[in-house]
Amino acid sequence: CKNSIPTGPIDTTTCDYETVESVNDKLFANLHELVQMPFFKYFQVDLYRECPFWSDDGSCSDPGCAITSVDESEIPEKWRAKALSRLGGSNIDDRHQLPGCYYRDSDFCFLDDNTEGDYYDLSLIPERYTGYAGPDTARIWRSIYEENCFGLSELNLLTGPNPAPVSLPDSMSEAFRLDGGDGGQCLEKRVYYKVISGLHASISTHICAEYLNQSTGEWGPNLQCFINRVASHPERLQYIYFNTVLLLRAVARIGPYLQSFDYCSTGTHEDDADTRAKLADVISIAQNAGRFDETVLFRGENANVLKEEFKIHFRNVTRIMDCVGCDKCRLWGKIQTTGVATALKILFELDEKALDPANHNLLQRSEVVALINTLHRFSESLEAVENFREMWKATSTDD
Ligand code: FAD
Repeated sequence: CKNSIPTGPIDTTTCDYETVESVNDKLFANLHELVQMPFFKYFQVDLYRECPFWSDDGSCSDPGCAITSVDESEIPEKWRAKALSRLGGSNIDDRHQLPGCYYRDSDFCFLDDNTEGDYYDLSLIPERYTGYAGPDTARIWRSIYEENCFGLSELNLLTGPNPAPVSLPDSMSEAFRLDGGDGGQCLEKRVYYKVISGLHASISTHICAEYLNQSTGEWGPNLQCFINRVASHPERLQYIYFNTVLLLRAVARIGPYLQSFDYCSTGTHEDDADTRAKLADVISIAQNAGRFDETVLFRGENANVLKEEFKIHFRNVTRIMDCVGCDKCRLWGKIQTTGVATALKILFELDEKALDPANHNLLQRSEVVALINTLHRFSESLEAVENFREMWKATSTDD
């Protein structure tokens, strides 16, 4: 736990830990209000698509895994599936269509095609301990980390054969020899690993921050859980900061576009103005702390090939989410992989011309909602880390 207070520059960014620490309380407060607004709290997704990688996607029967959708009539008319599918005609041709979803060449993820899938009120569904664990989760995480094998095999590509079940190494980072130093890996591959490991660490932090004590039936933070899963591996905590900076940079970059987005969810202008004001605060923090230099990536000789590979692998990660056997975990897994994929698209695919706010079809509503909710989750993890540090201090004083 001593190692859980990192200092100095955050590797592969131009930001430092102290800057993120200094802005996070404010960032979290703003985001927390923002994600309660109608525009950001309703998310439509098809949670029941077939797992494309294996057939026995063991489902979680624990009540903690269950979620309830909301009736479409609760959703402001403008954002309903029917209205969206009427709008979708213009760039339908650049889409690679699969049953229930699609991607465009510029996307790092599969997106829902808005014709199927339920609406969920995210403000009512916390990301916390659900009891989903065992060989099924081990296989999922392993498959996700295996997508980090750039240039080695085509086995895991979406069209390839199902990956054979393999035993799980004690540490994923050990398996891919990426802990700490660069181990001779290219920058892009290291960034990929940090993104995944940071997402995993953030999910673990939420599990430990809202943990169910099986014997008392009470919910609360579990310090030992956090020490085991995150704090005893300092690089995992560092990657939570790394992802936060990456997402902040994407928000800063897309700031003018977000400012001009149509948030008139219920048709009242107060709603719109309120959402816009809170977003302006988030964007201003992002401009200060989102110091990630995306221009240093994908520059070399094989830049385009590498970027294409990066995209394919990340898209696969978004499809692996269809194999997650716990509804609640799948929902948040889908949102967060879409949120990170949206950030990657903003950083690596959209040039200044494309980012022009007048370019209305740049992002789908679901991408904007996922981006902001994902940043909220990471910022919430950093708040939880702060709380765990206080708990740890209190226990060391007791001793
Ligand atoms: P796991 O977290 O399953 O990790 C497997 C192995 O990966 C570890 O043994 C370790 O070697 C390595 N590892 C762990 N963390 C990292 C890291 N950050 N970087 C690199 N390597 C690492 N459970 C819930 O209770 N609530 C949820 O909301 C939830 N959401 C989930 C979402 C997804 C997409 C997935 C795949 C799983 C989710 N789970 C959730 C399950 C949860 O993540 C764990 O898999 C489960 O709690 C079992 O934990 P574990 O201790 O066996 O290790």
